[in-house]
Amino acid sequence: MNVGIVYDPIYLEHDTGTHPENAARLTSIMTSLQKSQLLPRLTALSPGPATFDQLRLVHDARHIDFIKQTAAAGGGFMDSDTPVSPASYQAAVYAVGGTITAAEAVMQNRLESAFALVRPPGHHALPNQAMGFCLFNNVAIAAEYLLTKYKLERLAVVDFDVHHGNGTQAAFYSNPQVLYISTHQSPLYPGTGALEETGSGKAKGTTINIPLPSGCTDTEYRTVYDQIVVPSIRRFRPQFILVSAGYDAHWADHIASMQVTVKGFIYLVENLKMLAAEMCQKRLVMVLEGGYNLEALAASVKATFEVLLGNQNIETPQESPPITRPPPDIRLLIHHIREIHKLT
Ligand SMILES: [Zn+2]
Repeated sequence: MNVGIVYDPIYLEHDTGTHPENAARLTSIMTSLQKSQLLPRLTALSPGPATFDQLRLVHDARHIDFIKQTAAAGGGFMDSDTPVSPASYQAAVYAVGGTITAAEAVMQNRLESAFALVRPPGHHALPNQAMGFCLFNNVAIAAEYLLTKYKLERLAVVDFDVHHGNGTQAAFYSNPQVLYISTHQSPLYPGTGALEETGSGKAKGTTINIPLPSGCTDTEYRTVYDQIVVPSIRRFRPQFILVSAGYDAHWADHIASMQVTVKGFIYLVENLKMLAAEMCQKRLVMVLEGGYNLEALAASVKATFEVLLGNQNIETPQESPPITRPPPDIRLLIHHIREIHKLT
């Protein structure tokens, strides 16, 4: 298994102070990969900066210039949640570049799969607006890049971050070539991602939203993957799978209220890897989104790499999520989504 890793110290220079989305997220991941001796087994990819034309695949010129100018002027806030520091524009341009680098290496069969460990994250960034810790939409730009450059007909974006990827949904809402599937806690920021949001025009049905009540455990996520995510990807037959890999559905992550463990994330990644092998000549690229409990994030990313490497019997931390109440019953919700998307 030839697995790539994208990382660059420039991602640490997006200085957000004491914000939950801070540089320690990446340093704790890299420390854990170093300690576990996984790094020598991975192929390191050096990102370059995305070009203006690449950013323009998704974003308005005005949006790009606004971030550039804000950074050059010493920084500021795009919204109350989304800080920009002097080096943020450069880091964000390299985050897009790193995501494209990973996608390209996999597309050209130099690697089977890759994980782009980038920040700032991207899935909330709209074509004309930064929001929710995100400046440019790394995954959406990489998807457009692959569609344009390699003339792909169908590509899937799977988003298991606990928040809805409103920016990615907006970028592809009327594009029938991209299947966007999101599992997210609802209600929660940013408030989009209702199950009735399914795409528009010719793209009706190519946006699949799975808004989940709080408290879902590995069991509920497994059922959702078995009953909705896996069959809908099989039906769409993508040629490439891009994953918005956010780990904030972990039980120890205080930004949301899900109960997923590292084993739960392993199940999701195993399924996506299986689908990529079935339909996409193994082409699978993970891109970091959220995940704010440093220990849980580092353990989950490490486990993801082990799945990509094909390791069996992956060691996971001893985890016992506090059981405050029984997990929600999502049978009706699953039935309803399967009906909307004609999966029955
Ligand atoms: Zn998130």
